[in-house]
Amino acid sequence: MNVCVNGAAGRMGRLVVKNAVEANHKVVQAFDVREIGKDAGELAGVGKIGTLIQEMSDLNCDVAIDFSVPEATIKLVELALKSNTKLVIGTTGFNDEQKRVIEEASKKIPIVMSPNFSVGVNVFWKIIEEASKLLRDYDVEILEIHHRFKRDAPSGTALKAAEIVKNEIGVEKLVFGRSGECLRGDEIGVMAIRGGDVVGEHYVMFIGFGERIEINHKAWSREIFARGAIKAAEWVMNVDKPGLYGMRDVLGV
Ligand code: NAD
Repeated sequence: MNVCVNGAAGRMGRLVVKNAVEANHKVVQAFDVREIGKDAGELAGVGKIGTLIQEMSDLNCDVAIDFSVPEATIKLVELALKSNTKLVIGTTGFNDEQKRVIEEASKKIPIVMSPNFSVGVNVFWKIIEEASKLLRDYDVEILEIHHRFKRDAPSGTALKAAEIVKNEIGVEKLVFGRSGECLRGDEIGVMAIRGGDVVGEHYVMFIGFGERIEINHKAWSREIFARGAIKAAEWVMNVDKPGLYGMRDVLGV
C-alpha cells in the first residue's frame, strides 16, 4: 500500500512512518511544515522516506494518514476529495465547522476517524457503554491526564467517553472542570490534567451512594496509536463505500 502521512515530523507522525515502513508499506509523501529533527533519524524507517514536503501538494497515494493540527487536516481533506484518496484521521480538537467539512467529505470518500486508535481504548469505550446501561442512576465523572504539549483539552478520547455515557443514560449536560459554588447537578463532569510526558490516561467513575466503580485505561507508548492507524489504513484500502468509519468498524467491536 502507498501511504501519505500528514504531520510526519510530529510525535505521532514519525511513529506512523516507522510503523508503515515496518509493515512493508511505502510512504510516498510525508508532509509537515517543520523539518524532522536530528533525533528523528534514529527512529527506524524515517530515513527511508527521503525528504519532507513542507507545502502540501496533490495526493498520490492509496491512503493518507493524518496526525497533525485541525487546520492542516482540513487542507488534507480538500486534497483527498480532489484525488479521491481514502483518509485515516487521528487529529483531535476540531471545531463544529471543521467536523462538518469532514462529515461532508465522507459522503464522497471513505474516512476512518477516531480520537484514539488503540485497541485497548476501543474496548474501554465498549466497557463504558455496557457499564452505563447497568448503572443509570450513578453519577459519572471523567478524568484525563496528558503530557504538557497537548494542544486540546479535554482529550478527544475523554469527549468520546462522555458522549457514550450521555447517549446511554440520557444526561444532557457536560461540565468541563468545576470551581466556586458547584453543587452537582444532572451532568457528566469532564476534567483534564496536563503535565510532563504522560502519554494518556483516562478514568471513568460511576459513583453511587456507598460505592464506586472506576474503569481506566493507561497508555505508556504511542506505538499503540500508530499501529492502530496502520491497521485502519489497511482496512480502509478494501472499503469502497464512502462513509465516516470509526476504529470500532476496523476492529469489529
Ligand atoms: P505534534 O505536535 O507532535 O505533531 C503535529 C505535527 O503537525 C507537527 O510536526 C507540526 O509541525 C505538524 N503540522 C502543523 N501544521 C501543519 C501543516 N499545516 N501541514 C502539515 N503539518 C503540520 O502532535 P502529536 O502528539 O503527534 O499529535 C498530533 C495530533 O494527533 C493531535 O491532535 C493529537 O491529539 C492527536 N493524537 C491522536 C491519537 C489517536 O489515536 N487518534 C493519538 C495521539 C495523538
